[in-house]
Amino acid sequence: MIAPLVSGTPRYAGTLVVGGGLAGPAAAIWLARAGRPVQLWERERIATHKICGEFLSWEAQGWLADLGLDLDALGAVAIDRLRLVTAERAAAAPLGFTARSVTRRSLDAAMLDLASAAGADVQRGVTAREVTADGSVVASHGSLRPDQLFVATGKHNLRGIGRDGEGTLNHQLGFKAYLRLSPEQRAELSGHVELILFDGGYAGLQMVERDAANLCFLVSPERWRRTGGDFTALLADLGAEVPHLARRLEGAVPLLDRPLAISGVPYGFLFRGGAGEPGWRLGDQAAVIPSFTGDGMSLALHSARLAAEALLTGAGAEAYYRRLGRDAGGAIGRATFLQRQSERPGLGGKAVAALAAIPSLGRVAARFTRLSPRAVARARNALSGLKR
Ligand SMILES: Cc1cc2nc3c(=O)[nH]c(=O)nc-3n(C[C@H](O)[C@H](O)[C@H](O)COP(=O)(O)OP(=O)(O)OC[C@H]3O[C@@H](n4cnc5c(N)ncnc54)[C@H](O)[C@@H]3O)c2cc1C
Repeated sequence: MIAPLVSGTPRYAGTLVVGGGLAGPAAAIWLARAGRPVQLWERERIATHKICGEFLSWEAQGWLADLGLDLDALGAVAIDRLRLVTAERAAAAPLGFTARSVTRRSLDAAMLDLASAAGADVQRGVTAREVTADGSVVASHGSLRPDQLFVATGKHNLRGIGRDGEGTLNHQLGFKAYLRLSPEQRAELSGHVELILFDGGYAGLQMVERDAANLCFLVSPERWRRTGGDFTALLADLGAEVPHLARRLEGAVPLLDRPLAISGVPYGFLFRGGAGEPGWRLGDQAAVIPSFTGDGMSLALHSARLAAEALLTGAGAEAYYRRLGRDAGGAIGRATFLQRQSERPGLGGKAVAALAAIPSLGRVAARFTRLSPRAVARARNALSGLKR
């Protein structure tokens, strides 16, 4: 347990992982399976919904399989086609692999259960507030000074481990809603991930488990203001621009009381290391790839693997950041460039026309903007003896 604040800051002879999304539990599982003491703090008492398109790339599935997570048991659905949509037209093409899709609420809960089963001391409902210069972590319930600290708090910064957003693309607003589509629209969407491009942003639409559809999108703040900051009005405005989206949403029933919203996601961020930092950054705290790639979860798991590896082999934090930069820097840079270009008017139409003419272009674009299969294979087959 965490000691109360009044008794000073006790030492913890192990790794404290802060954040129980994907990167945190994955690192905790690998460390615990290697016999290391691990404690994990997650601020939510029970798993909650997260802003995420919930598209699991082939690479993300590989990491989850290594960890022993059974996507079938969670009811994950299969997706093997991409449909690119603009105001004027749509084109579909095979993805070239079978992606899966499952709600983060189910996935994150399963990851925390796996971490507990692996032997990590998982504490839910504990919020870390600050990391002090000597490496102590002050939390809602007390404080601790761990031998090593892994910070995997996603988009939320922890005081003392600030994230510098310089050089990133972070002006858009993100929204996510679950919808019950009409049976016809559900049938049309089934097996597809739809990437819907519109003025000032884009949306991802796909089915998740239990016949729900996930609509997750980024819009410009101007558009949000123009529609009076009203989500229903915003959807109507997007539907007026893209009839395909209006058709999908006709008769759809929202499944959440209100949509989830986020701002300031630092797309393009890649932490290159900083001597003297009191903790290691994992997942979105270390690197943020544009959402359209559907590779953020894979990158979070990849970083967790590299960090666990560097800790267990004694290679250290700087070696971990160097490796992460080598593995992910190119894809993050190219995807961020492409996301910036996508905001140029008319480009979406050209992309759809190109995909309609040459369906394999989708696969080429995916290869260009995601971690290379070689880097993923190297990380998965690392020699340290990390148990899968
Ligand atoms: C709009 C959008 C769409 C996306 N779509 C996709 C997609 O389709 N496919 C894909 O692969 N990726 C997608 N991503 C990216 C993906 O969601 C993230 O990259 C991934 O969730 C990062 O995992 P993580 O473990 O770093 O952080 P998270 O999954 O965010 O987990 C962080 C955890 O830390 C906890 N936490 C935060 N602060 C504290 C604290 N102080 N103390 C204790 N706990 C704390 C949180 O409650 C949370 O559970 C999308 C991202 C966005 C913004």
